[in-house]
Amino acid sequence: MTKKSVELVLSPREPHYVGDGFRVHNFIPDGFRLDMQRMNPFIMLDYNSKFYFPPTDKPRGVGVHPHRGFETVSIAYKGRVAHHDSSGGGGVIGEGDIQWMTAASGVLHKEYHEKEWSLEGGEFHMVQLWVNLPAKDKMSQPKYQAIKNENINRFALPNGGGEIEVIAGDYKGVKGSATTFTPIHMLNAKLKKGTETDFTFPANYSTGLLVIEGSVVVNNQEEAPTNHFVLMATDGESFTIKASEDAVVLVLSGEPINEPIAAHGPFVMNTRQEIAQAFDDFYKGKFGHLED
Ligand code: MN
Repeated sequence: MTKKSVELVLSPREPHYVGDGFRVHNFIPDGFRLDMQRMNPFIMLDYNSKFYFPPTDKPRGVGVHPHRGFETVSIAYKGRVAHHDSSGGGGVIGEGDIQWMTAASGVLHKEYHEKEWSLEGGEFHMVQLWVNLPAKDKMSQPKYQAIKNENINRFALPNGGGEIEVIAGDYKGVKGSATTFTPIHMLNAKLKKGTETDFTFPANYSTGLLVIEGSVVVNNQEEAPTNHFVLMATDGESFTIKASEDAVVLVLSGEPINEPIAAHGPFVMNTRQEIAQAFDDFYKGKFGHLED
């Protein structure tokens, strides 16, 4: 097994608001060297680092908007998000839960802090990822995978060193429950201080680490503090993560989709014509209807 080295450690950019409920640092595609093609199939990563929202009786969030051509994956570390979509579906993403939404041919949805949570206020901490779809699946039927925290498969690290939550793909034989269109590994590494563990992915996969809590050292060499993103190089397969203090790290690795990308706002397709078609369909109401 050859060593996969660290390409760079990126600090979080200045945050911006998505609607009034998501205060995010964008890493993909605007972070240095983290453009859509380099990180494909991970084409967008917005990170709401831990942030306190005061109580309100008017839930904060983002109103009705469309998506087409990819999947959105929302990971709630703290806080609760309610969502509704144009097919009549809806639900709540609670603490530790994951919502894997395949927008594919198109949905309209809205995402708000849950009403009861908003009344109390509190710390909010969340990741939203966009996962690309291959051309042949971009116009497939929308669907949801709601993954409750208690249903996530886990690998227990030896000596009580913590655990690896396997959201998708696998870790040392433990498989994630999420189904994906292309090969993807998505893991939450929850490591106790001093614990070191290793990861192995194909060399050519787009691989990155987001430090959610605590701080870690990668390959016994590169320090990565809270809220930093570690881009792994494509020079080898294996690397190690050691927790300098109790840590949570989101580990992402996926096979690149080697197809052209045409992206505009909430649509990610393969050609400019398909983007124009998406806007046309949206304006003509073909994504359905959803009240604000
Ligand atoms: Mn959305």
